[in-house]
Amino acid sequence: MAEVLVYVDHVDGAVRKPTLELLTLARRIGEPVAVALGSGAENTAAALAEHGAVKVLTHDAAEYADYLVVPKVDALQAAYDAVSPAAVLVPSSAEGKEIAARLAVRIGSGIITDATDLEAGDEGPVATQSVFAASFTTKTRVSKGTPVITVKPNSAAVEAAPAAGAVEALAVTFSDKATGTKVTARTPRESTGRPELTEAAIVVSGGRGVNGSENFAIIEALADSLGAAVGASRAAVDAGWYPHSNQVGQTGKSVSPQLYIANGISGAIQHRAGMQTSKTIVAVNKDAEAPIFDLVDYGVVGDLFDVVPQLTEEINTRKG
Ligand SMILES: Cc1cc2nc3c(=O)[nH]c(=O)nc-3n(C[C@H](O)[C@H](O)[C@H](O)COP(=O)(O)OP(=O)(O)OC[C@H]3O[C@@H](n4cnc5c(N)ncnc54)[C@H](O)[C@@H]3O)c2cc1C
Repeated sequence: MAEVLVYVDHVDGAVRKPTLELLTLARRIGEPVAVALGSGAENTAAALAEHGAVKVLTHDAAEYADYLVVPKVDALQAAYDAVSPAAVLVPSSAEGKEIAARLAVRIGSGIITDATDLEAGDEGPVATQSVFAASFTTKTRVSKGTPVITVKPNSAAVEAAPAAGAVEALAVTFSDKATGTKVTARTPRESTGRPELTEAAIVVSGGRGVNGSENFAIIEALADSLGAAVGASRAAVDAGWYPHSNQVGQTGKSVSPQLYIANGISGAIQHRAGMQTSKTIVAVNKDAEAPIFDLVDYGVVGDLFDVVPQLTEEINTRKG
């Protein structure tokens, strides 16, 4: 069976969920061979094996932390040369997309970014994408070279599928360009204790209807009852009620959770562009004609200041 390279996103050996989702998709098109780089790379092996990696290629060097993406591209190319895979899968983070694009240019391949699904096809893997502000769903296939595909978080279920996960040291020689852009400082973001917006399985968002930064506490309370991330419309962000890092939409972040709850958000096309591929969409809006109701699975016509606290209380009661 053909091998499929999976680029591993991890923090000191703790594998992040989008990589485990990639392994589920990789198994549909071949045998997953994982590539884990940097500090703690070897510690990723158990989780990767548990989810189907037949091999884990690892390499650690100071360059991965000290410089921007080129050392990682050098390593992924070394893995590509060693394995000759049928496809290369990379998580669709900003960094992942840059690594994938640089690799595709180097190996002369076509690239597909932000896939939301992947299946085997007669002429190579077929990716699903949501395009033009999520108004079309397309199926695409790379027609030149080895397909390089980045996949959005929450595009597949994490499935246990134990495999050998044999750890092998990857031989990497860094290119001249590897040390071109140095990281000069790092400041960790203050943690909210909530999941990362783009990876969260549940996102609870607030819009102009929330009517003030202090009122975002009720959105946060609902999010916390569900273990969710908090999102915001641009109107709420532009008003200074919530940080820009939490904006969902065309000029914000793109999310694709299992459940998206929009509160006091009208459903403008630019907002939909960032959340329309969510699996289940719920909206609370006091205007029954709001366009958001055109795309919801469940809609509540009501005042969010009545509905959201009741919902939070009910969820907390059922959990308790
Ligand atoms: C180039 C460009 C890029 C953009 N990018 C983005 C983007 O990335 N993300 C984004 O979100 N927008 C983006 N926008 C802005 C977008 O067009 C909308 O203006 C914005 O999404 C509106 O935000 P909203 O739904 O919160 O506000 P509104 O459209 O004002 O809707 C507020 C909603 O809240 C409801 N409401 C009010 N009070 C209550 C209450 N008490 N209870 C329940 N419901 C209530 C109202 O009925 C209304 O439907 C962009 C626009 C442009 C031109």
